[in-house]
Amino acid sequence: MDELHYQVNLLKAMNQKLSGRDKMFRLVCDTTNNAFLYYSFEKSEVVTLGNWDDHFSFRVKDSREFVRICEEFEENNAQMLKDVLYLEKSGLERSTVECHIKNGRKWLEFETRVSYDEAGVPTDKIICIRDITKFKNQNDELKYMAYYDSLTGLYNRNYFVMRLGEFVRKAEEEQCVVSVLFIDIDDFRKINDGMGLVVGDEVVQQYGQFLCSFLSENVIVCHMNSDVFCMAIYDPCGSRTVEAIHKKIQERIQKGFVLTNGLELHLTVSIGVAEYPEASKSALELINCAEIVMFKAKSAGKDSIQYFDAPILRDFLDTVAIENKLKEAVFNKNFCLHFQPQYCTDNQKLRGVEALIRWRDEENKMISPAVFIPIAEKNGAIIPIGNWVMEESIRYYAEWKRKYDYPLIMSINISAIQYKRKDFVPQLLDIMQRYQVEPSEIELEITESILIEDFAEVKEKLMMLRDYGIRISLDDFGTGFSSLAYLNGLPIDTLKIDKSFVDRVNTDESTRIITESIVSMVSRLGYESVAEGVETKEQLEYMQKIGCNVIQGYLLGKPMPPEEMEQLLVKLL
Ligand code: C2E
Ligand code: CA
Ligand code: CA
Repeated sequence: MDELHYQVNLLKAMNQKLSGRDKMFRLVCDTTNNAFLYYSFEKSEVVTLGNWDDHFSFRVKDSREFVRICEEFEENNAQMLKDVLYLEKSGLERSTVECHIKNGRKWLEFETRVSYDEAGVPTDKIICIRDITKFKNQNDELKYMAYYDSLTGLYNRNYFVMRLGEFVRKAEEEQCVVSVLFIDIDDFRKINDGMGLVVGDEVVQQYGQFLCSFLSENVIVCHMNSDVFCMAIYDPCGSRTVEAIHKKIQERIQKGFVLTNGLELHLTVSIGVAEYPEASKSALELINCAEIVMFKAKSAGKDSIQYFDAPILRDFLDTVAIENKLKEAVFNKNFCLHFQPQYCTDNQKLRGVEALIRWRDEENKMISPAVFIPIAEKNGAIIPIGNWVMEESIRYYAEWKRKYDYPLIMSINISAIQYKRKDFVPQLLDIMQRYQVEPSEIELEITESILIEDFAEVKEKLMMLRDYGIRISLDDFGTGFSSLAYLNGLPIDTLKIDKSFVDRVNTDESTRIITESIVSMVSRLGYESVAEGVETKEQLEYMQKIGCNVIQGYLLGKPMPPEEMEQLLVKLL
C-alpha cells in the first residue's frame, strides 16, 4: 500500500514538474512575438504556441492538418511551405520560407528545426512563424526607390539600363532588333525659366504619364533626367514600330497639355533613334548614340525625329576630338592670324584687310575656323579666342601703321556670343587705347545671327560702337533670314555679299537680279558693299559693273601670314 502511495505521489510530483516546464515554454513563446508549431514524431502530436491566433483562425493538432495552413497562402508559396512543414528526413535541419497570405497584405516567414535521436530518427520538430510584413514593405519601398523615378512613376535611368541590357542579350539570342528612342522636350528651359520649376515638373509629369501608356512586356520607358525620356522597344513590329510610336507621340502633343493652373501648353519634342545591332551592341552605347542623333534632330530645327547613321557618329566623335584639342590650343595660344586684302573697285587701291584665325594643331594639321569656331561658340572657348583675335589683329595694325603709315581698315570677325557679353565694348576700347588705334580704323564683322535675339538691345550696342566711331560690317549677307527691311535704320557701314551669290553671278540669271538689287539698295542706303570670295576675272568684272565698292577673294589675294602681308605693304610705300 505504501509502495502504491509512493508511486502515486511520485507521478503527481512529476506531472507538476512537467506542467511547470510547459508553462515556462508557453511563457517564453508568448514573449517572442512569434507563433510556434511543435510536432512530436513519436506521439504524432502537434502543439501551437506563441501568438498563433494572430495569424490563423484555427488550431492544428495533427500533422494531417498542415494542409489547412498551406491553403492560407498564395499558390506559388504553397509548395515551398509544404516542404518546410513536412520536412523530416530530407537531410536539412533547418529551412526557411517566406509566404504571402491570400487576400491579405501579410508576409510570414517559416523556419523549421528538426532534432534526431542517436539512430538518426527524427524525434521533434519546431516551426517558428514570424511576421515579416514590415520588413518586406520596407524592401519594396527601397526597391521602388532604386528602380523608379518618383516624379513620373517611370523607370529610372539605372533600371532602364539594366532592362535594356536584358533586351540586348535576348535580341542577340533571338537575332532581333532593339530600338532605343532618346526623347527630349524642346525649349524646356524656357518653360522652367519662364513659368517656374513647378510648372516644369508638371509638364514632365504629364508627359511621363503619357509615355507610361506605351509600357508593355516589350516596351520600357524611363525618365532619364530633367526633360529627357528614353524608350526601348524589343523586336519593333506592328503597333510598336518607331514610326507608329512617333505618330502617337505627335498626336498626343498636338492636343496640348492642360496644367493645374488652367494654362494650356503646346510642346514639341526632338527624338533620336539608335538600334541594336546597327548602332551598337551595348546598352549604354545605344543610349549614347540615340542621344547624339537627338542633338542632330535639335540642330535640324527641333520638333523632329532623327535616325542614327554612321556619319553622324563620326561627325560627333570628330567634334569631341576637336573640342578636347581646342581646350589645349586655347591654353597654349596655338593660333595665328592670316590677313586677306580687300580692294576698292574704283581705284584698285588696298582698302583694308580681314583678319582670319588659323589653328595648327600639335600634329601640324591645319584646322579650318569654319570647323572649330562653331565648336568654340558652343563650349565657350570663343571668348578667350575672340579676345586673342582682337588683341592680336589690333597689335599688327598698330605695328603696320607705325611702319608703313598706309590708311587701312582692319576687319575683325566677331562672334555673336562674344558680341553679347557686357564687357565686349570696354575690352575693345581698352585694346584700341593701349595700341593707340583710331576707332575709324577698326571694322567689326558681325553676322545676322546677332540680330535674331533681342533686336533692340543689339541695335543699342551697335549705336554705341558707332558713336565711338567704330565701323560695323554685316557679314555673309544673303545666307540668313536677310530681311532687307530691318537693314533700314541699322547703324552699319558695310555689307558683305556672301560668296554663294558671287559664285553664281555669271551663270544664274536670278542670282544676278538679286545681287544687283542688293548692291543698288546698299548704295542708296549709304552703305558700302563688299563682294566676298571673288575667284574669277568674270566675277570681278561683273561686280565692278554693277557698282559693288570692294572686292575680296582669291583672285586678288588669298589670306596670308603677317610677313607676306608686310611685303605687300612694302610695295605700296
Ligand atoms: P568669313 O568671315 O566669311 O571669311 C571668309 C572666308 O572665305 C575665309 O575662310 C576666307 O579664307 C575664305 N575666302 C576668301 N576668299 C575666298 C575665295 O575667293 N574663295 C574661297 N573658296 N574662299 C575664300 P576661313 O578663313 O576659312 O574662315 C572661315 C570662317 O571662319 C569665316 O568666314 C568666319 O566666319 C570664321 N572666322 C575666321 N576667323 C575668325 C575669327 O577670328 N573670329 C571669328 N569669330 N570667326 C572667324
Ligand atoms: Ca568675315
Ligand atoms: Ca563672310
